[in-house]
Amino acid sequence: MDDKQLQFLLGRRALNQAATKDYTDWAEALLYSNPNSENAEILASMGYERDPLTEEIEKYFLATLNDLKFNIPSNEQCIGDYVRLVCTQIISGEIDAIRGTELLEITYEKSDYTGLYSIWYGATEDIRNVRDYGEEVGFYNTGLTKDNLPSYLKSIAQQFLTLLDIELPGEFFNLSICLQCKHVSKPSFVRHEKPWLPAVIYRLIYNTQPAVRPVCPNCNADFPGMMQDFKAREMYLNTYHNTTQKPPL
Ligand SMILES: [Zn+2]
Repeated sequence: MDDKQLQFLLGRRALNQAATKDYTDWAEALLYSNPNSENAEILASMGYERDPLTEEIEKYFLATLNDLKFNIPSNEQCIGDYVRLVCTQIISGEIDAIRGTELLEITYEKSDYTGLYSIWYGATEDIRNVRDYGEEVGFYNTGLTKDNLPSYLKSIAQQFLTLLDIELPGEFFNLSICLQCKHVSKPSFVRHEKPWLPAVIYRLIYNTQPAVRPVCPNCNADFPGMMQDFKAREMYLNTYHNTTQKPPL
């Protein structure tokens, strides 16, 4: 049995993304190494039915795993293993980088739109930006273009695996890193237009809030890199990971 195929299937199942074909393909492959599993045989044959019932598929899937004396890990574990597997396959080229990234997009929704998995939302948005919407560069990933898409996505997968294994400061994705002094914190904001005009007066005259721009609270350099951006995270890792220097938080 190919453990990776089962890991893939269990991840998809935990994310409610597994299709009939995912199960029946797995059962079919399993029969090569376990030709005597009756339950796997039934499951595999469902691939040839027009509309097999989801409950029946689940029933024979669980029965097959029972035959194999395999206990399903928690959903959390299944999803974690799946994400690592897909990342590894993106990096090795075993899976197309765009398809792999699109597979991982759902993890953002399943994680309640927070944390590390937002990386996959940014990555898929940028695939759409440069491939479908005619943007020249990515919005979430500085320097991403249509031409470097596969290699860039591989770097994102590589970086994601690193981030999974290290401890990140709280609210990491709301933080920024200064491109000048490497200071890590939430950015400050300064008035962009007519900074001499008191905000109250500005609102009275223009009937809108004055525009602001983010700056580094440490050295006032403009536009510190936000951690939603691959390049900012790369700078963070290069500066503070695997070194004795700790981020000044
Ligand atoms: Zn700075």
